[in-house]
Amino acid sequence: MTLDQIEQMKKLRNDGLSYRVIGDKVGCGANTVRNYILPGAREKDRERGREYRANNREALNESSRKWREKNRDAISERRREWSKNNKEIIKERQHKWYAEHGKEYYERNKEVLNERTRKWRKNNKDKIKAQAARWLAENPGYYREYHKKNKEAINARSLKWAKDNPIKTREKRSKQRALKAEVTIGDLSEIKKVYDIAEKDTDVVCYLRLDGCPYANGEKIAIGDRHVDHIKPLSRGGSHTASNLAISCSKCNLRKGARLLEELEDIGFTGVKTKGDIK
Ligand SMILES: [Zn+2]
Repeated sequence: MTLDQIEQMKKLRNDGLSYRVIGDKVGCGANTVRNYILPGAREKDRERGREYRANNREALNESSRKWREKNRDAISERRREWSKNNKEIIKERQHKWYAEHGKEYYERNKEVLNERTRKWRKNNKDKIKAQAARWLAENPGYYREYHKKNKEAINARSLKWAKDNPIKTREKRSKQRALKAEVTIGDLSEIKKVYDIAEKDTDVVCYLRLDGCPYANGEKIAIGDRHVDHIKPLSRGGSHTASNLAISCSKCNLRKGARLLEELEDIGFTGVKTKGDIK
C-alpha cells in the first residue's frame, strides 16, 4: 500500500463511504482499509483480542484441546518434519538451555544421569573405543605432546602415587619384570588378590621367619612392612603366578634375595609355615 493510496482511502472515508466499498475500490478487504486509516485500529484490535482470550480462556483451551486431539497425527507429522529441517536450530537451543540450566539440572538428577551414563558406556564399549581411535587418528601425537608439555607434573604425580601405594607399585614392577624376563605369568586377578591381602589384610604373618625376623614368633606384620615375595625368584625360573607368591616381612625378603628356599638353611629358614592361604 502506497502513501498515496492511503491518502485516497482517507479521503473516500471522509466522503462517507464504508470500509467495504473503499476496499472494493482499491482492491483489498474492509479490515485492511480500516487498519490503514483508523488511528490505533490495529492496537485496539489486538487489545480486544487479548481481552476476549482472557475472558474465554477455558472455552478456548477446551476447543484448542479438541482441535489438537482431532489433528494429532498431522501435528506430530508437522513437528517431525520441522525437527528434521531445523536440526541446527534445535542444537543451538539445546546448547543455550544447557548453558543456562545444565549444571542445576545435573545436580538435581545426578544419580539417575550417572546411572544412565554408566549403562550407556557399558553397552557401547565398541563405539567408545572406535570413537577414541578415530579421535587419536585425527590428533596424532597428542599424548606424546601432552606428556612432553606436562612431564614434570606427571612425574610428580606418579612418584606421589608410588609413595602412597607401595605394594601396588611392587605389583606393577613385578609384572613388568616378569614380562621382560619372559617367564610364565598367571591369572592377574589371582595375583592381585595376593597383593590386596598384603596391602589391606590385618592378619598377615611372615612366611620366611629367617634369623633376625622381627615377626619370628608369628606376630602380624605391620602393614607398611610387607613384601610380596616370589617364592622361587623370577631370575631362577620362577613364574609370576599367585601360587609362587607369598608375603614376608621386608627384612626377610631382602635377606632372601634371589635364593631358593633350599638355599636359606644357613640363615635360619626352617620351612614355610604360612603358605597355603598365605596367612
Ligand atoms: Zn620376616
